[in-house]
Amino acid sequence: MDAVRVFLGFGSNIGDGIEHIQTAARELKNRTGCAVRLSGFWRSKARYYVDQPDFINAVGELRCLLGAAELLDLCNAIEAAMGRDRSRVAEKGPRIIDIDILLYGKEIIATERLIVPHPGIRERKFVLFPLLELDSGLRDPVTDELFQDILARLPRQGIYPILSGRYDAPYPA
Ligand code: AMP
Repeated sequence: MDAVRVFLGFGSNIGDGIEHIQTAARELKNRTGCAVRLSGFWRSKARYYVDQPDFINAVGELRCLLGAAELLDLCNAIEAAMGRDRSRVAEKGPRIIDIDILLYGKEIIATERLIVPHPGIRERKFVLFPLLELDSGLRDPVTDELFQDILARLPRQGIYPILSGRYDAPYPA
């Protein structure tokens, strides 16, 4: 099987989010042998369940030989190894690390466990900004729209790029 170009979304809002995301990327490399190219880090206000700390987000790109379901198992195993306990935290609540499969090549997957492209991409600037940092020409495999055009239509969501550990003044986007 040829390697598939995969994009993963990382989020963390407990402890040092940047460190947790770097650890998760390193674990992916250790367990798959494939290096993960990480975007910059972005800070966002929690959405959905808003009474919780800000999130740190990033996107990672890797060329992957695993099937999508195996990759999801691996991501879940890394989340668990890093101390995420799904039973004890509210859904959409604080988490040490969350890893989502955003894009798996141009495949469209809809099973009970896995929906790819991840349905959140189109509405979440904290995913779109880092995704487009890695490749500004990416398109939604379902509609063939440029993600750049989808991003341009979204309202402000309070997303800050973290440059040298500081907020960048002209934002939020
Ligand atoms: P979360 O709490 O955000 O980590 O949600 C994880 C659940 O979403 C898992 O049970 C997965 O089976 C399911 N899921 C569906 N589509 C995806 C996807 N593209 N990436 C990661 N998890 C997914």
